[in-house]
Amino acid sequence: MYNLRLLRQILPSAGHAHPAHLRPRWLASQHKRRPQPGSLPPDRLEQLRSDLLERRQELSGEEWTEVRQSLVDTYKHINGRNVDAVILGVCSGPQQLPLAKNYVEFLRSSGSRPNAATLGRLLRVYNAAYHARPLSREEQAEILLICRDLQAEHETLDATSCEHIIHGLVAMDSSDWRRALPLLEMMKVTTSAPSVAAYSALAEKAFSVEQQEQEDLELAWRLLEEMALARKLPKCEVYLALLSRLDRLPAQLKLLLEFLERHEILVSQRVAERFKELAQQVPHLLEARATSLGPLGRCQACQQHLQPVAIGDEQFRALRDCFLERVLIRRDVFQRSTPAEVARFKQYVERTAPYDCVIDGLNVAYSTGTKKSPQQLAKLVATVVRHFRDRDKRVLVLGREHMRQWSKQAMHYVQSNASLFLTSNLSHDDPFLLYATLRSGQETDFFSRDLMRSHAFHLGPELKPIFRRWQQEHQFSLVTQTQTGRIIVKEPIRHRLSAHQVGGTWHVPYCEAYTQHPTDSFEVPANWLCLRLKENTLRDKQ
Ligand SMILES: [Zn+2]
Repeated sequence: MYNLRLLRQILPSAGHAHPAHLRPRWLASQHKRRPQPGSLPPDRLEQLRSDLLERRQELSGEEWTEVRQSLVDTYKHINGRNVDAVILGVCSGPQQLPLAKNYVEFLRSSGSRPNAATLGRLLRVYNAAYHARPLSREEQAEILLICRDLQAEHETLDATSCEHIIHGLVAMDSSDWRRALPLLEMMKVTTSAPSVAAYSALAEKAFSVEQQEQEDLELAWRLLEEMALARKLPKCEVYLALLSRLDRLPAQLKLLLEFLERHEILVSQRVAERFKELAQQVPHLLEARATSLGPLGRCQACQQHLQPVAIGDEQFRALRDCFLERVLIRRDVFQRSTPAEVARFKQYVERTAPYDCVIDGLNVAYSTGTKKSPQQLAKLVATVVRHFRDRDKRVLVLGREHMRQWSKQAMHYVQSNASLFLTSNLSHDDPFLLYATLRSGQETDFFSRDLMRSHAFHLGPELKPIFRRWQQEHQFSLVTQTQTGRIIVKEPIRHRLSAHQVGGTWHVPYCEAYTQHPTDSFEVPANWLCLRLKENTLRDKQ
């Protein structure tokens, strides 16, 4: 039997007074200031986990009562309604399934009915155990029972409950896991899109299921495409599940690389390591070397240069026409500008184009900080104009009306050395910038730090990657201005930065760790894999 006194030391309940000399240090400080919701020191729950819950398979009813009560007494954000889910959250490790079940049994035996959040948490613990070892038949039957109970209670479940049930069902060996698919659809109704965790759990399952059918693979890929289009990045486990299926490997590997290319996805180091292991396991199918890039994007392993990022004439035309058409027909591009202003701008461009570089004046002015004097702001714009004029470039500067009030001298320099178009103070600048750049032709560059995310997104899934490549090839931006006033300009990177093939060899960039929200900026990844799928890989289609 666990010593209740020790338990009280870990989690003091309001009713138990501790003599000061016996009080643990964290408790002493807590005595003075009760933790506020949102500013809770997480280490106390951690201590409960490591000192008690990780060491035991079960607790007595008295001990659970004590834990429950002390959590409610100690934390303001923990109350009678959420305490059970909190406790199961602390028992979430793969080894803690017996303890988590023991707690739910305790609740039932004391006459209370575990709520949906609590049972959902329990399903996550089953899922954690499933990833560590095969679940027994009884355990799988328990999962099914919990899922049925939860679903029977409500016709429509909230997104969190759906996610929990999905995690429970994918732990089934039988085809019952497929019953999770309608829940994914339900999430689309109750929220804008299913979560990364829900998508990933199902895709991982579809890749790893025993007696896999073609339709399982098709499902996995359909889910991955859906995710990627919603810019939700699959978790590493999905790729690892795919890479563990040696029977399916050749054809699936190729699909994976094409997927990474299509959506410009960087895998994590963990996945990259698996690629390397795989190459040792099946050297007749795959060759993999870690590499980095030398100057001008040369692979240090195979000595080939990565593919230029430039798009072809036809792709450029498609991109330009689509953008201009949206301007002309759908008119949703120039939000917050008046039709008269847009018309005036178009006439101006017809009269003064083509340009070699289009500069977003306001973006440049503020790119080294917003707390500058108008004089400094104007000077910075003038310096950027000079940078291009010194290279004999024809420049268009876009700005706002209020820039006229800035330094007369600097603005005079801008006006005499570039075309200058000022919009009303309310307009957004990037539609003007993109219009003038695309209208000018395939060689024209632009200067701005804006990542143009929404413009890329609105062009749709087919043109978005083309837009991104065009953007990467043509976007200049200001890195900084030195003390002496010299500017450091970031030039476009001319080779591709995502997975692609050169002369039959795949080059696959990877990052240190998985992130749900990767940056859209164009940075050269430091780490790459140089991969060769061997000849028979392609013949071996499934
Ligand atoms: Zn290489």
